[in-house]
Amino acid sequence: MHALTEQFIDNDWVASRAEARRPVLDPYHETVIAEVTVGDPADVEAAVTAARRALPGWRATPERRRGEYLDAIAAGLEARREALAALSSRNNGKPLAEAYQDLDDAIACYRYYAGQASALGERQGQADASGLPGLAARCYWDPVGVVGLITPWNFPLVSSAWKLAPALAAGCTVVFKPSEVTPLPERVLAEIVREAGLPAGVVNLLHGDGQGIGAPLSRHPGIDKLSFTGSNAVGEAVMQAAARGVRPVSLELGGKSPIIVTEDADLAQARDLVMAGICYNAGQMCSATSRLLVHERLAEALFDAIDEAMGALRLGDPLAAETDMGPLATATQRDRVQGFLLQAEREALASATPALAPPERGCFVAPRLYRDVPTDSRLWREEIFGPLLCARRVAGDEEAIALANDSDFGLAATVVAGDPARAEAIARRLEAGNVWCNCDQVAPPHASWGGMKRSGIGRELGPAGLDAYLEPKRITRPTAG
Ligand code: NAD
Repeated sequence: MHALTEQFIDNDWVASRAEARRPVLDPYHETVIAEVTVGDPADVEAAVTAARRALPGWRATPERRRGEYLDAIAAGLEARREALAALSSRNNGKPLAEAYQDLDDAIACYRYYAGQASALGERQGQADASGLPGLAARCYWDPVGVVGLITPWNFPLVSSAWKLAPALAAGCTVVFKPSEVTPLPERVLAEIVREAGLPAGVVNLLHGDGQGIGAPLSRHPGIDKLSFTGSNAVGEAVMQAAARGVRPVSLELGGKSPIIVTEDADLAQARDLVMAGICYNAGQMCSATSRLLVHERLAEALFDAIDEAMGALRLGDPLAAETDMGPLATATQRDRVQGFLLQAEREALASATPALAPPERGCFVAPRLYRDVPTDSRLWREEIFGPLLCARRVAGDEEAIALANDSDFGLAATVVAGDPARAEAIARRLEAGNVWCNCDQVAPPHASWGGMKRSGIGRELGPAGLDAYLEPKRITRPTAG
Protein backbone atom coordinates (compact mmCIF):
# COMPACT_ATOMS: atom_id res chain seq x y z
CA MET A 1 0.00 0.00 0.00
CA HIS A 2 1.24 3.50 -0.83
CA ALA A 3 2.03 5.68 2.16
CA LEU A 4 1.96 9.28 0.98
CA THR A 5 3.90 10.70 3.88
CA GLU A 6 6.26 12.85 1.86
CA GLN A 7 5.76 16.35 0.58
CA PHE A 8 7.07 17.69 -2.72
CA ILE A 9 9.21 20.70 -1.79
CA ASP A 10 12.08 22.14 -3.83
CA ASN A 11 11.76 19.30 -6.38
CA ASP A 12 12.39 16.73 -3.66
CA TRP A 13 10.20 14.41 -1.62
CA VAL A 14 10.68 15.26 2.04
CA ALA A 15 9.04 13.63 5.04
CA SER A 16 6.02 15.47 6.41
CA ARG A 17 6.35 16.66 9.99
CA ALA A 18 2.93 15.18 10.73
CA GLU A 19 2.68 11.78 12.36
CA ALA A 20 -1.00 11.27 11.63
CA ARG A 21 -2.28 9.82 8.37
CA ARG A 22 -5.70 9.29 6.86
CA PRO A 23 -6.86 6.49 4.58
CA VAL A 24 -7.28 6.99 0.83
CA LEU A 25 -10.22 4.98 -0.50
CA ASP A 26 -11.21 3.11 -3.60
CA PRO A 27 -14.92 3.99 -3.34
CA TYR A 28 -16.02 1.07 -5.53
CA HIS A 29 -14.33 -1.72 -3.59
CA GLU A 30 -14.56 0.32 -0.36
CA THR A 31 -10.98 -0.61 0.37
CA VAL A 32 -8.10 1.48 1.61
CA ILE A 33 -5.62 1.83 -1.27
CA ALA A 34 -3.19 4.27 0.34
CA GLU A 35 -2.59 6.43 3.34
CA VAL A 36 -1.87 10.11 3.15
CA THR A 37 -0.33 12.41 5.70
CA VAL A 38 -2.65 14.99 7.24
CA GLY A 39 0.19 17.51 6.87
CA ASP A 40 1.62 19.98 9.30
CA PRO A 41 2.09 23.77 9.41
CA ALA A 42 5.86 23.13 9.35
CA ASP A 43 5.41 21.58 5.87
CA VAL A 44 3.68 24.79 4.78
CA GLU A 45 6.55 26.85 6.16
CA ALA A 46 9.11 24.83 4.20
CA ALA A 47 7.12 24.95 0.98
CA VAL A 48 6.45 28.70 1.18
CA THR A 49 10.16 29.31 1.85
CA ALA A 50 11.06 27.25 -1.24
CA ALA A 51 8.49 29.05 -3.38
CA ARG A 52 9.70 32.49 -2.24
CA ARG A 53 13.30 31.54 -2.99
CA ALA A 54 12.33 30.38 -6.49
CA LEU A 55 10.23 33.44 -7.31
CA PRO A 56 12.91 35.89 -8.58
CA GLY A 57 14.36 33.32 -11.00
CA TRP A 58 11.00 32.15 -12.27
CA ARG A 59 9.55 35.60 -12.82
CA ALA A 60 12.73 36.52 -14.75
CA THR A 61 12.40 33.43 -16.96
CA PRO A 62 11.20 34.60 -20.40
CA GLU A 63 7.49 33.96 -20.87
CA ARG A 64 8.10 31.83 -23.95
CA ARG A 65 10.41 29.59 -21.92
CA ARG A 66 7.79 29.29 -19.19
CA GLY A 67 5.39 28.20 -21.92
CA GLU A 68 7.82 25.48 -22.99
CA TYR A 69 7.76 24.08 -19.46
CA LEU A 70 3.96 24.00 -19.59
CA ASP A 71 4.11 22.12 -22.89
CA ALA A 72 6.47 19.66 -21.22
CA ILE A 73 3.96 19.12 -18.38
CA ALA A 74 1.24 18.50 -20.98
CA ALA A 75 3.52 15.97 -22.70
CA GLY A 76 4.20 14.28 -19.35
CA LEU A 77 0.47 13.92 -18.70
CA GLU A 78 -0.07 12.61 -22.22
CA ALA A 79 2.67 10.01 -21.81
CA ARG A 80 0.88 8.68 -18.71
CA ARG A 81 -2.66 9.19 -20.00
CA GLU A 82 -3.80 5.55 -19.58
CA ALA A 83 -2.22 5.02 -16.18
CA LEU A 84 -3.45 8.35 -14.82
CA ALA A 85 -7.00 7.87 -16.09
CA ALA A 86 -7.14 4.46 -14.41
CA LEU A 87 -5.68 5.85 -11.18
CA SER A 88 -8.12 8.77 -11.13
CA SER A 89 -11.04 6.46 -11.86
CA ARG A 90 -9.99 4.09 -9.08
CA ASN A 91 -9.39 6.84 -6.50
CA ASN A 92 -12.42 9.00 -7.37
CA GLY A 93 -14.91 6.39 -8.59
CA LYS A 94 -15.67 8.12 -11.89
CA PRO A 95 -16.18 5.96 -15.01
CA LEU A 96 -12.98 5.49 -16.98
CA ALA A 97 -14.33 7.35 -20.02
CA GLU A 98 -14.92 10.41 -17.82
CA ALA A 99 -11.42 10.11 -16.36
CA TYR A 100 -10.03 10.17 -19.90
CA GLN A 101 -12.02 13.34 -20.60
CA ASP A 102 -10.48 14.88 -17.47
CA LEU A 103 -7.00 14.00 -18.66
CA ASP A 104 -7.65 15.50 -22.08
CA ASP A 105 -9.06 18.67 -20.48
CA ALA A 106 -6.01 19.01 -18.25
CA ILE A 107 -3.59 18.47 -21.15
CA ALA A 108 -5.46 21.03 -23.28
CA CYS A 109 -5.32 23.51 -20.40
CA TYR A 110 -1.53 23.29 -20.00
CA ARG A 111 -1.13 23.64 -23.78
CA TYR A 112 -3.46 26.64 -23.92
CA TYR A 113 -1.56 28.49 -21.20
CA ALA A 114 1.74 27.62 -22.90
CA GLY A 115 0.43 29.71 -25.80
CA GLN A 116 -0.85 32.39 -23.45
CA ALA A 117 2.60 32.64 -21.85
CA SER A 118 4.18 33.36 -25.24
CA ALA A 119 1.47 35.90 -26.04
CA LEU A 120 2.08 37.57 -22.67
CA GLY A 121 5.76 37.92 -23.55
CA GLU A 122 4.84 39.63 -26.79
CA ARG A 123 2.60 42.21 -25.17
CA GLN A 124 5.00 43.11 -22.34
CA GLY A 125 6.14 46.71 -22.70
CA GLN A 126 3.73 47.64 -25.46
CA ALA A 127 3.25 51.36 -25.93
CA ASP A 128 0.04 52.81 -24.59
CA ALA A 129 -1.33 56.26 -25.37
CA SER A 130 -0.67 58.30 -22.28
CA GLY A 131 -3.46 60.73 -23.08
CA LEU A 132 -1.31 63.66 -22.00
CA PRO A 133 0.94 65.83 -24.19
CA GLY A 134 4.66 65.18 -23.70
CA LEU A 135 4.15 61.88 -21.89
CA ALA A 136 4.44 58.30 -23.15
CA ALA A 137 3.45 55.11 -21.37
CA ARG A 138 4.15 51.37 -21.54
CA CYS A 139 2.19 48.46 -20.08
CA TYR A 140 3.61 45.45 -18.28
CA TRP A 141 2.10 42.55 -16.38
CA ASP A 142 3.96 41.27 -13.34
CA PRO A 143 3.23 37.98 -11.56
CA VAL A 144 1.25 38.32 -8.34
CA GLY A 145 4.01 36.43 -6.50
CA VAL A 146 3.80 33.20 -4.52
CA VAL A 147 0.33 31.69 -4.79
CA GLY A 148 -1.47 29.12 -2.64
CA LEU A 149 -3.70 26.77 -4.65
CA ILE A 150 -6.31 24.53 -2.99
CA THR A 151 -8.52 22.07 -4.88
CA PRO A 152 -11.37 19.58 -4.19
CA TRP A 153 -11.70 15.92 -5.21
CA ASN A 154 -14.32 15.86 -7.94
CA PHE A 155 -12.08 16.59 -10.95
CA PRO A 156 -8.55 15.48 -10.06
CA LEU A 157 -5.88 16.93 -12.36
CA VAL A 158 -8.43 19.28 -13.97
CA SER A 159 -9.02 21.70 -11.08
CA SER A 160 -5.27 21.76 -10.51
CA ALA A 161 -4.54 22.41 -14.21
CA TRP A 162 -6.95 25.37 -14.22
CA LYS A 163 -4.85 26.98 -11.48
CA LEU A 164 -1.32 25.73 -11.98
CA ALA A 165 -1.10 26.37 -15.72
CA PRO A 166 -2.05 30.08 -15.64
CA ALA A 167 -0.12 30.71 -12.40
CA LEU A 168 3.08 29.30 -13.92
CA ALA A 169 2.48 31.11 -17.23
CA ALA A 170 2.16 34.37 -15.30
CA GLY A 171 5.48 33.82 -13.51
CA CYS A 172 4.10 32.94 -10.09
CA THR A 173 5.60 30.20 -7.95
CA VAL A 174 3.20 27.82 -6.32
CA VAL A 175 2.30 25.94 -3.16
CA PHE A 176 -0.44 23.52 -4.22
CA LYS A 177 -2.65 21.52 -1.85
CA PRO A 178 -4.72 18.87 -3.64
CA SER A 179 -7.67 17.24 -1.90
CA GLU A 180 -6.75 14.63 0.68
CA VAL A 181 -9.51 12.48 -0.85
CA THR A 182 -7.82 12.10 -4.25
CA PRO A 183 -4.09 12.56 -3.65
CA LEU A 184 -2.94 9.70 -5.89
CA PRO A 185 -3.29 11.26 -9.37
CA GLU A 186 -2.07 14.66 -8.16
CA ARG A 187 1.02 13.06 -6.68
CA VAL A 188 2.03 11.87 -10.16
CA LEU A 189 1.72 15.48 -11.31
CA ALA A 190 4.60 16.40 -9.00
CA GLU A 191 6.74 13.76 -10.70
CA ILE A 192 5.76 15.14 -14.10
CA VAL A 193 6.69 18.66 -13.00
CA ARG A 194 10.11 17.44 -11.93
CA GLU A 195 10.64 15.52 -15.18
CA ALA A 196 9.59 18.58 -17.16
CA GLY A 197 12.67 20.26 -15.66
CA LEU A 198 10.99 23.09 -13.77
CA PRO A 199 13.47 24.75 -11.43
CA ALA A 200 13.34 23.68 -7.79
CA GLY A 201 10.76 25.49 -5.68
CA VAL A 202 8.59 26.68 -8.57
CA VAL A 203 5.92 24.05 -7.85
CA ASN A 204 5.56 22.63 -4.35
CA LEU A 205 2.85 20.09 -3.59
CA LEU A 206 1.62 19.49 -0.06
CA HIS A 207 -0.57 16.56 0.85
CA GLY A 208 -2.83 17.00 3.83
CA ASP A 209 -6.23 18.00 5.08
CA GLY A 210 -7.77 21.37 5.82
CA GLN A 211 -6.40 21.61 9.32
CA GLY A 212 -2.87 20.35 8.62
CA ILE A 213 -2.24 22.24 5.38
CA GLY A 214 -5.26 24.19 4.06
CA ALA A 215 -5.75 26.61 6.95
CA PRO A 216 -2.03 27.25 7.66
CA LEU A 217 -1.46 27.84 3.94
CA SER A 218 -4.39 30.28 3.76
CA ARG A 219 -3.10 32.39 6.63
CA HIS A 220 0.62 32.26 5.76
CA PRO A 221 1.90 35.82 5.18
CA GLY A 222 4.35 34.54 2.56
CA ILE A 223 1.44 33.69 0.26
CA ASP A 224 0.56 36.64 -1.98
CA LYS A 225 -2.70 35.25 -3.36
CA LEU A 226 -5.02 32.30 -2.76
CA SER A 227 -6.98 30.46 -5.38
CA PHE A 228 -9.51 28.04 -3.91
CA THR A 229 -12.03 25.63 -5.38
CA GLY A 230 -14.39 23.87 -3.01
CA SER A 231 -17.31 24.38 -0.68
CA ASN A 232 -18.75 27.73 0.34
CA ALA A 233 -18.02 27.21 4.03
CA VAL A 234 -14.32 26.63 3.43
CA GLY A 235 -14.23 29.34 0.75
CA GLU A 236 -15.41 31.85 3.35
CA ALA A 237 -12.74 30.66 5.80
CA VAL A 238 -10.06 31.08 3.12
CA MET A 239 -11.31 34.57 2.33
CA GLN A 240 -11.25 35.53 6.00
CA ALA A 241 -7.70 34.26 6.35
CA ALA A 242 -6.69 36.22 3.25
CA ALA A 243 -8.12 39.43 4.67
CA ARG A 244 -5.10 39.65 6.96
CA GLY A 245 -2.51 41.34 4.80
CA VAL A 246 -5.15 42.31 2.19
CA ARG A 247 -4.27 39.36 0.01
CA PRO A 248 -6.47 38.72 -3.03
CA VAL A 249 -8.53 35.54 -3.48
CA SER A 250 -10.12 33.72 -6.38
CA LEU A 251 -12.96 31.45 -5.30
CA GLU A 252 -14.74 28.74 -7.29
CA LEU A 253 -17.53 27.55 -5.02
CA GLY A 254 -20.80 25.69 -5.10
CA GLY A 255 -23.84 25.77 -7.32
CA LYS A 256 -27.51 24.85 -7.62
CA SER A 257 -27.80 25.37 -11.33
CA PRO A 258 -31.05 25.38 -13.31
CA ILE A 259 -31.91 23.68 -16.58
CA ILE A 260 -34.85 25.31 -18.37
CA VAL A 261 -36.86 23.37 -20.96
CA THR A 262 -39.41 25.27 -23.04
CA GLU A 263 -42.53 23.70 -24.58
CA ASP A 264 -41.05 23.72 -28.12
CA ALA A 265 -37.93 21.78 -27.06
CA ASP A 266 -37.02 18.47 -28.63
CA LEU A 267 -37.96 15.90 -25.99
CA ALA A 268 -35.07 13.51 -26.62
CA GLN A 269 -32.52 16.32 -26.61
CA ALA A 270 -33.98 17.73 -23.40
CA ARG A 271 -33.85 14.30 -21.73
CA ASP A 272 -30.21 13.77 -22.78
CA LEU A 273 -29.08 17.19 -21.57
CA VAL A 274 -30.94 16.80 -18.27
CA MET A 275 -29.35 13.38 -17.76
CA ALA A 276 -25.83 14.60 -18.55
CA GLY A 277 -26.31 17.61 -16.28
CA ILE A 278 -27.15 15.50 -13.21
CA CYS A 279 -25.56 12.10 -13.82
CA TYR A 280 -22.08 12.96 -15.13
CA ASN A 281 -19.54 12.27 -12.38
CA ALA A 282 -22.51 10.91 -10.37
CA GLY A 283 -23.74 14.48 -10.00
CA GLN A 284 -20.60 15.55 -8.13
CA MET A 285 -20.19 18.65 -10.26
CA CYS A 286 -20.26 22.23 -9.09
CA SER A 287 -22.10 22.96 -12.36
CA ALA A 288 -24.63 20.11 -12.02
CA THR A 289 -27.98 21.32 -13.37
CA SER A 290 -29.89 20.01 -10.39
CA ARG A 291 -33.05 22.15 -10.72
CA LEU A 292 -35.23 21.33 -13.74
CA LEU A 293 -37.75 23.97 -14.81
CA VAL A 294 -39.92 22.56 -17.57
CA HIS A 295 -42.95 23.99 -19.33
CA GLU A 296 -46.12 22.35 -18.01
CA ARG A 297 -47.10 21.12 -21.49
CA LEU A 298 -43.91 19.05 -21.83
CA ALA A 299 -43.44 18.24 -18.15
CA GLU A 300 -45.14 14.85 -17.82
CA ALA A 301 -43.50 13.42 -20.96
CA LEU A 302 -40.08 14.70 -19.94
CA PHE A 303 -40.39 13.42 -16.37
CA ASP A 304 -41.31 9.97 -17.68
CA ALA A 305 -38.42 10.01 -20.16
CA ILE A 306 -35.96 10.97 -17.40
CA ASP A 307 -37.25 8.27 -15.07
CA GLU A 308 -36.88 5.71 -17.83
CA ALA A 309 -33.33 6.87 -18.66
CA MET A 310 -32.32 6.91 -14.99
CA GLY A 311 -33.77 3.44 -14.54
CA ALA A 312 -31.69 2.15 -17.45
CA LEU A 313 -28.33 3.38 -16.15
CA ARG A 314 -25.73 0.75 -15.37
CA LEU A 315 -24.14 1.42 -12.00
CA GLY A 316 -20.93 -0.48 -11.41
CA ASP A 317 -17.17 -0.75 -11.47
CA PRO A 318 -15.87 2.57 -12.79
CA LEU A 319 -13.12 0.74 -14.67
CA ALA A 320 -15.59 -1.51 -16.53
CA ALA A 321 -16.40 -0.32 -20.05
CA GLU A 322 -20.16 -0.91 -19.67
CA THR A 323 -20.52 1.27 -16.53
CA ASP A 324 -22.53 4.47 -16.93
CA MET A 325 -22.23 5.71 -13.35
CA GLY A 326 -19.72 4.87 -10.64
CA PRO A 327 -19.95 5.25 -6.90
CA LEU A 328 -19.73 8.60 -5.12
CA ALA A 329 -16.17 9.54 -4.27
CA THR A 330 -16.32 8.84 -0.54
CA ALA A 331 -18.48 7.19 2.10
CA THR A 332 -18.93 10.66 3.62
CA GLN A 333 -20.34 11.97 0.35
CA ARG A 334 -22.66 8.94 0.04
CA ASP A 335 -23.91 9.52 3.58
CA ARG A 336 -24.45 13.19 2.79
CA VAL A 337 -26.53 12.42 -0.29
CA GLN A 338 -28.44 9.70 1.55
CA GLY A 339 -29.21 12.34 4.16
CA PHE A 340 -31.04 14.23 1.41
CA LEU A 341 -33.01 11.07 0.54
CA LEU A 342 -34.20 10.97 4.16
CA GLN A 343 -34.94 14.67 4.03
CA ALA A 344 -37.06 14.03 0.91
CA GLU A 345 -39.03 11.42 2.89
CA ARG A 346 -39.52 13.89 5.74
CA GLU A 347 -40.79 16.47 3.25
CA ALA A 348 -43.03 13.84 1.59
CA LEU A 349 -41.43 14.44 -1.80
CA ALA A 350 -42.38 11.92 -4.43
CA SER A 351 -40.03 10.13 -6.79
CA ALA A 352 -41.28 7.71 -9.43
CA THR A 353 -37.78 6.80 -10.60
CA PRO A 354 -37.41 3.01 -10.76
CA ALA A 355 -35.34 1.93 -7.76
CA LEU A 356 -32.05 0.77 -9.22
CA ALA A 357 -30.32 -1.90 -7.23
CA PRO A 358 -26.78 -0.62 -6.86
CA PRO A 359 -23.89 -3.10 -6.64
CA GLU A 360 -23.61 -4.78 -3.25
CA ARG A 361 -20.50 -2.88 -2.30
CA GLY A 362 -19.35 0.62 -3.11
CA CYS A 363 -20.43 4.15 -2.18
CA PHE A 364 -23.39 4.17 -4.56
CA VAL A 365 -26.49 6.31 -4.57
CA ALA A 366 -28.89 5.58 -7.43
CA PRO A 367 -30.10 8.60 -9.44
CA ARG A 368 -33.53 9.96 -8.67
CA LEU A 369 -35.95 12.58 -9.99
CA TYR A 370 -38.25 14.42 -7.60
CA ARG A 371 -41.23 16.04 -9.31
CA ASP A 372 -42.97 19.24 -8.20
CA VAL A 373 -40.52 20.11 -5.42
CA PRO A 374 -41.58 23.17 -3.39
CA THR A 375 -39.18 26.09 -3.67
CA ASP A 376 -38.67 26.16 0.10
CA SER A 377 -37.57 22.52 0.19
CA ARG A 378 -34.00 21.94 1.31
CA LEU A 379 -33.57 19.74 -1.76
CA TRP A 380 -34.51 22.63 -4.01
CA ARG A 381 -32.25 25.19 -2.35
CA GLU A 382 -29.10 23.35 -1.18
CA GLU A 383 -26.27 21.90 -3.19
CA ILE A 384 -26.56 18.11 -2.91
CA PHE A 385 -23.50 17.07 -4.97
CA GLY A 386 -25.02 13.79 -6.04
CA PRO A 387 -27.43 12.42 -8.69
CA LEU A 388 -30.66 13.84 -7.21
CA LEU A 389 -32.68 16.02 -9.56
CA CYS A 390 -35.47 18.35 -8.41
CA ALA A 391 -38.09 19.51 -10.90
CA ARG A 392 -40.89 22.05 -11.19
CA ARG A 393 -43.44 22.76 -13.91
CA VAL A 394 -43.65 26.35 -15.14
CA ALA A 395 -46.30 28.20 -17.14
CA GLY A 396 -43.86 30.09 -19.35
CA ASP A 397 -40.43 31.66 -19.81
CA GLU A 398 -40.97 34.48 -17.30
CA GLU A 399 -41.73 32.09 -14.48
CA ALA A 400 -38.81 29.85 -15.49
CA ILE A 401 -36.36 32.76 -15.45
CA ALA A 402 -37.62 34.08 -12.11
CA LEU A 403 -37.34 30.65 -10.47
CA ALA A 404 -33.95 29.97 -12.06
CA ASN A 405 -32.56 33.20 -10.62
CA ASP A 406 -34.14 32.63 -7.22
CA SER A 407 -31.03 30.99 -5.78
CA ASP A 408 -28.05 32.05 -3.71
CA PHE A 409 -25.82 30.53 -6.37
CA GLY A 410 -25.07 31.63 -9.93
CA LEU A 411 -22.55 29.26 -11.44
CA ALA A 412 -24.11 27.78 -14.58
CA ALA A 413 -27.34 27.07 -16.44
CA THR A 414 -28.67 25.18 -19.45
CA VAL A 415 -31.55 26.21 -21.71
CA VAL A 416 -33.23 23.72 -24.04
CA ALA A 417 -35.59 25.36 -26.54
CA GLY A 418 -36.75 24.61 -30.08
CA ASP A 419 -36.13 28.19 -31.15
CA PRO A 420 -32.43 29.08 -30.72
CA ALA A 421 -33.19 32.82 -30.48
CA ARG A 422 -35.62 32.16 -27.65
CA ALA A 423 -33.00 30.04 -25.86
CA GLU A 424 -30.49 32.85 -26.10
CA ALA A 425 -32.99 35.48 -24.97
CA ILE A 426 -33.62 33.39 -21.83
CA ALA A 427 -29.88 32.82 -21.37
CA ARG A 428 -29.20 36.56 -21.42
CA ARG A 429 -31.45 37.02 -18.40
CA LEU A 430 -30.01 34.21 -16.27
CA GLU A 431 -27.66 35.01 -13.40
CA ALA A 432 -24.90 32.53 -14.21
CA GLY A 433 -21.30 32.62 -15.36
CA ASN A 434 -21.90 30.02 -18.08
CA VAL A 435 -25.13 29.24 -19.92
CA TRP A 436 -25.32 26.40 -22.44
CA CYS A 437 -28.13 26.61 -25.02
CA ASN A 438 -29.13 23.28 -26.57
CA CYS A 439 -25.68 21.82 -25.96
CA ASP A 440 -23.63 19.89 -23.43
CA GLN A 441 -21.74 21.57 -20.61
CA VAL A 442 -18.50 22.47 -22.34
CA ALA A 443 -15.59 24.30 -20.70
CA PRO A 444 -12.80 24.69 -23.27
CA PRO A 445 -9.55 26.21 -21.99
CA HIS A 446 -9.96 29.49 -23.90
CA ALA A 447 -13.40 30.21 -22.36
CA SER A 448 -13.97 31.66 -18.92
CA TRP A 449 -15.27 29.63 -15.98
CA GLY A 450 -16.69 30.94 -12.73
CA GLY A 451 -19.77 31.99 -10.92
CA MET A 452 -21.90 34.94 -9.96
CA LYS A 453 -23.41 35.54 -6.52
CA ARG A 454 -22.26 32.99 -3.92
CA SER A 455 -20.73 30.69 -6.54
CA GLY A 456 -17.47 32.55 -6.29
CA ILE A 457 -15.19 35.44 -7.07
CA GLY A 458 -13.23 35.76 -10.30
CA ARG A 459 -12.89 33.56 -13.34
CA GLU A 460 -10.66 30.67 -14.32
CA LEU A 461 -9.65 29.59 -17.83
CA GLY A 462 -9.28 31.89 -20.83
CA PRO A 463 -7.45 35.22 -20.67
CA ALA A 464 -9.27 36.04 -17.40
CA GLY A 465 -7.72 32.93 -15.85
CA LEU A 466 -4.26 34.31 -16.60
CA ASP A 467 -5.16 37.82 -15.42
CA ALA A 468 -6.02 36.28 -12.04
CA TYR A 469 -2.27 35.75 -11.49
CA LEU A 470 -1.04 39.04 -12.97
CA GLU A 471 -0.69 42.59 -11.67
CA PRO A 472 -0.95 45.17 -14.47
CA LYS A 473 1.77 47.80 -14.29
CA ARG A 474 2.02 51.08 -16.19
CA ILE A 475 5.21 53.08 -16.62
CA THR A 476 4.83 56.71 -17.71
CA ARG A 477 7.70 59.01 -18.75
CA PRO A 478 8.33 62.18 -20.78
CA THR A 479 8.33 61.58 -24.53
CA ALA A 480 11.67 63.27 -25.08
CA GLY A 481 14.82 62.74 -23.04
P1 NAD B 1 -14.12 21.35 0.62
O1 NAD B 1 -14.38 22.81 0.69
O2 NAD B 1 -14.47 20.51 1.76
O3 NAD B 1 -12.58 21.09 0.34
C1 NAD B 1 -11.89 21.72 -0.71
C2 NAD B 1 -10.42 21.81 -0.36
O4 NAD B 1 -10.25 22.69 0.76
C3 NAD B 1 -9.79 20.48 0.05
O5 NAD B 1 -8.49 20.42 -0.49
C4 NAD B 1 -9.75 20.59 1.57
O6 NAD B 1 -8.74 19.83 2.18
C5 NAD B 1 -9.46 22.07 1.76
N1 NAD B 1 -9.83 22.61 3.07
C6 NAD B 1 -10.68 22.10 3.99
N2 NAD B 1 -10.75 22.92 5.07
C7 NAD B 1 -9.94 23.97 4.83
C8 NAD B 1 -9.61 25.16 5.53
N3 NAD B 1 -10.14 25.42 6.72
N4 NAD B 1 -8.78 26.05 4.96
C9 NAD B 1 -8.26 25.82 3.73
N5 NAD B 1 -8.52 24.70 3.01
C10 NAD B 1 -9.36 23.78 3.56
O7 NAD B 1 -14.86 20.87 -0.72
P2 NAD B 1 -14.92 19.42 -1.33
O8 NAD B 1 -15.86 18.60 -0.51
O9 NAD B 1 -13.55 18.89 -1.56
O10 NAD B 1 -15.56 19.72 -2.78
C11 NAD B 1 -16.93 19.89 -2.97
C12 NAD B 1 -17.29 21.36 -3.12
O11 NAD B 1 -16.47 21.99 -4.10
C13 NAD B 1 -18.70 21.57 -3.59
O12 NAD B 1 -19.32 22.56 -2.82
C14 NAD B 1 -18.54 22.05 -5.02
O13 NAD B 1 -19.59 22.82 -5.50
C15 NAD B 1 -17.26 22.77 -4.98
N6 NAD B 1 -16.65 22.86 -6.31
C16 NAD B 1 -16.73 24.03 -7.03
C17 NAD B 1 -16.20 24.12 -8.30
C18 NAD B 1 -16.31 25.39 -9.13
O14 NAD B 1 -15.65 25.50 -10.14
N7 NAD B 1 -17.12 26.36 -8.74
C19 NAD B 1 -15.56 23.02 -8.86
C20 NAD B 1 -15.48 21.86 -8.12
C21 NAD B 1 -16.03 21.79 -6.83
